[in-house]
Amino acid sequence: MEQILELKHIHYAYHNMDGETPALTDISFAINEGEFIAIVGPSGCGKSTLLSLIAGLLEPEKGLIKISGKYLRESTTNIGYMLQHDQLFEWRTIYNNVILGLEVQHMLTTKAKAKAHELLADYGLKQFENAKPSELSGGMRQRAALVRTLVLEPDILLLDEPFSALDYQTRLNVSDDIGQIIRREKKTAILVTHDLSEAISLADRVIILSKRPASIQQTLPLIFDLEKDTPLNRRNTPEFKNYFNLIWKELNEND
Ligand code: ADP
Repeated sequence: MEQILELKHIHYAYHNMDGETPALTDISFAINEGEFIAIVGPSGCGKSTLLSLIAGLLEPEKGLIKISGKYLRESTTNIGYMLQHDQLFEWRTIYNNVILGLEVQHMLTTKAKAKAHELLADYGLKQFENAKPSELSGGMRQRAALVRTLVLEPDILLLDEPFSALDYQTRLNVSDDIGQIIRREKKTAILVTHDLSEAISLADRVIILSKRPASIQQTLPLIFDLEKDTPLNRRNTPEFKNYFNLIWKELNEND
């Protein structure tokens, strides 16, 4: 498998009137194409900051980020970002929300429109194309937000707590659903979450960050002996509990 993302010795601090807030210290890791990585760590440790650096929204103070072997700035790799709130516009229909990114990037070709319809159909939203977001359940809205991201054909998907606005029951179903969609689309994904169960049910590898300024405390590959490796099936395995306890201990020892 080819390496798609590489971070080497990344340091980042916020600077404002009150002084400096160091957020990340000496972060290095690499991700292969098609891998699903979860990043966990204490609240406020620097997880979202790390995603913003990978998205190119912030510049590292020290260190380098390479995508498919090129420096982030020179890279033409498409990065998709999915956030906690679906940010669907109420005055637009679901279809018009899904094509918004294409419109903004002047990429609304016949082919792209066909892809939008196809993805909406594939993910059970065909009959809601002309509905307004408020007519959809929380889970369906999140699926529409994912389709809006996927239609831009991102090579890397960044997911910042994408399920945390949902209630517990919906969240289980939606994370299972969305996890499977991402696998089917063979996307490289980085999920930031404070929910350990979510991380263990979805990822190939979990990166555990220390408290702020975050450094990598441990990287844990997740291996499940399952015929059908789905997020819900993972939750019923003994490995799941073991991984949970391991990460829990790791995070609390760090307190
Ligand atoms: P996490 O996602 O792990 O909860 P963040 O990456 O959002 O953490 O934030 C890391 C630290 O940086 C926090 O202490 C936060 O208060 C601080 N921080 C985040 N954004 C800013 C900013 N724009 N200016 C100053 N400090 C910030």
